[in-house]
Amino acid sequence: MSGPAPATYVVAVRALCEFTAKAGDLDLRFTPSPTAQEGIAGHSIVTSRRNGNYQAELSLTGDFGPLHVRGRADGYDADQNLIEEIKTHRGDLARMPDNHRQLHWAQLRVYGHLLCASRGLEEVNLALVYFDIGTQQETVMRETRGSEELAKMFADQCTRFVAWAEQELAHRVARDAALQTLTFPHADFRPGQRELAENIFKAHTAGRCLLAQAPTGIGKTVGSLFPALKAAPRNKLDKIFFLAAKTPGRQLALDAAATLTASDPAFPLRVLELASRDKSCEHPDKACHGDACPLARGFYDRLPAARQDALAVPVLDRAALRDVALRNGVCPYYLGSEMTRWSDVIVGDYNYYFDGGAMLFGLAQANQWRVSVLVDEAHNMVSRARSMYSCELDRGALKAARSAAPAFLQKTFDKAGRYWGALSSGSAPYQVLPEMPEKLLVALQVLVSAITELLVESAAPLDPALQRFYFDALKFTRLAESFGTHSLCDVARGEPGRSTISIRNIVPAHFLAARFSFAHSTTLFSATLSPWNYYSDALGMPAHTGWIDVASPFQSGQLAVHVVDRISTRYKHRAASLGPIVDLMASQYMKTPGNYLAFFSSFEYLEQIAAVFTERYPAVPVWLQARRMNESERGNFVDRFTTASRGIGFAVLGGAFGEGIDLPGARLIGAFVATLGLPQINDVNEQVRMRMQARFGAGYDYTYLYPGIQKVVQAAGRVIRTESDRGVVYLIDDRFAQPDVRALLPRWWVVSPPTSETG
Ligand code: SF4
Repeated sequence: MSGPAPATYVVAVRALCEFTAKAGDLDLRFTPSPTAQEGIAGHSIVTSRRNGNYQAELSLTGDFGPLHVRGRADGYDADQNLIEEIKTHRGDLARMPDNHRQLHWAQLRVYGHLLCASRGLEEVNLALVYFDIGTQQETVMRETRGSEELAKMFADQCTRFVAWAEQELAHRVARDAALQTLTFPHADFRPGQRELAENIFKAHTAGRCLLAQAPTGIGKTVGSLFPALKAAPRNKLDKIFFLAAKTPGRQLALDAAATLTASDPAFPLRVLELASRDKSCEHPDKACHGDACPLARGFYDRLPAARQDALAVPVLDRAALRDVALRNGVCPYYLGSEMTRWSDVIVGDYNYYFDGGAMLFGLAQANQWRVSVLVDEAHNMVSRARSMYSCELDRGALKAARSAAPAFLQKTFDKAGRYWGALSSGSAPYQVLPEMPEKLLVALQVLVSAITELLVESAAPLDPALQRFYFDALKFTRLAESFGTHSLCDVARGEPGRSTISIRNIVPAHFLAARFSFAHSTTLFSATLSPWNYYSDALGMPAHTGWIDVASPFQSGQLAVHVVDRISTRYKHRAASLGPIVDLMASQYMKTPGNYLAFFSSFEYLEQIAAVFTERYPAVPVWLQARRMNESERGNFVDRFTTASRGIGFAVLGGAFGEGIDLPGARLIGAFVATLGLPQINDVNEQVRMRMQARFGAGYDYTYLYPGIQKVVQAAGRVIRTESDRGVVYLIDDRFAQPDVRALLPRWWVVSPPTSETG
């Protein structure tokens, strides 16, 4: 498994300059920067205005000691011996912080040197071209530099980076050597864990993606991280991204990394946890620039010491990162962003790699990292990805933002309001628009630019109502750029003057396919990932993606599964179902007293059942999930399930208690699932069904059946958590007896014939 130690350190021009030429304050006032599409469009507008011997995108490389520097200058005009570096921007250029401009010059001068060196030129003309996305105007700054002067500047830059690069090279050699001899941290694999690990290792060797359905209890976190780490040296992986849907999943990954490297306190593996800005910010009342926030002031001046300090901590979780950051007087959130460059395993939420402006994906592309992506609890991916590429704008929010906005913005708001009003005036409560509403869109773009200007000028954060609307409008206008059949645009009309306009992504494949094809290997794993084609189609996984269904470590005798087909939970049969469900639950409870969870399709249904239950069986303790429980209330609900308690918890399927809670042994001995979990039939879901039908020929299954049964299996999966657990599951609805539904239940379940159930 040994690979040659990298003899040279490859660095992109941009990364080199960001390391050596950034100084002063962190300053995000000149953001939001143009989108990637706007940037590409801006570049092509500028280059299309050039003529003669103009070459767009000129690849340049050069070496300095162990450094191999590479990059692509935006354009070279041979007639004028002129290199251009094009930067797109929004808003007044005069407000661009000076250190941004210095960085751009540094980059351009490196290109200048690389060109002179490769073509033997005595001097070269350099032009920084700032292209305003809004006005389409160019502002050009020029200088002429001699080759010797540029060579000296290049040498200066590189000299400042060499020591760091050598340290990184040494770390990489040590890391890969340690990973080659890494041994599994336990005496043996758990049943199923080896199969998972081997398949992930093979997927890395083949450089392909893998969908892994792997049951609870086999140790998926260690079972996925271990093979990815083992595969890193041979596959020349730069980084492993471990992505989880929720905080507990991130903690499991951090714990797994600590376990894997526990044999050697100096194990050369750098692990980083990324937390959101909301959770990491030390000054939420301030804006991210040096005039407002002390941790942004002088950020780049203090960054080198903070960075070096951070490297001394092998597992930089949120708390450790905060310690290092505050010790060095820098912002923890932005120090975390910086440390992604120098970490081997990065643990964070899905959005860091999969959403529109995902930081990890952006950095990986810019630096051409070879990455492995591990996605935990991946059954969440379809819904999470849809929400990343969806956006809702509420007319009430526009009005609230207008009230909070300064006077000079009122007219701009009014214009957007007028176009919105025209859209809202239809009579249908719900309408799918055949295309994006162009006039409203343009008005929103103007509004976004105007608020961006305001943001650039203001020292304090915007008023919350204005800020909320601004972010929503920004996302809306950006999503509108890539609108297509993968998404729909609709208007929902309420009372007069109230309406919501949405862009809803339906098939995230359009956005995610490039993420999967970029990574060396991506593994999606979860206990419920069937049928694989649903996930593969909806997410846009490559054609050669592998699929494994790891056998459960549990025996069928551990779980009695009953289908109760004499009850229908359809809406029209609800009233008739209450009594039979309640009696069934009570009968099971009397037979085997202990802790149970009962799942229903809605709070309304839950409350109806609970009312009948407490009336008929007042002696049985019950506790109910309430609407909008906060974190501590949710914790209290789960804590009611103890080894000594007895009772029934009532919960909504697909809610806070349907997955992600672990109640082993006597803490939970049974579940009643009185719903198929099918999403509600409504206008939006019917649109989804039609699109899924048109695209994949599986409208009903992809919209209703598969997402519904996935939730049922997740919820029922709360019962058996260890190989010594015993329990019972009641699937209450006649449709559970249908073969197509039964086929979606876990292989290891042995379902009692419906007729055996008497209630
Ligand atoms: S501490 Fe908060 S306000 Fe200050 S730079 Fe960091 S994220 Fe921005």
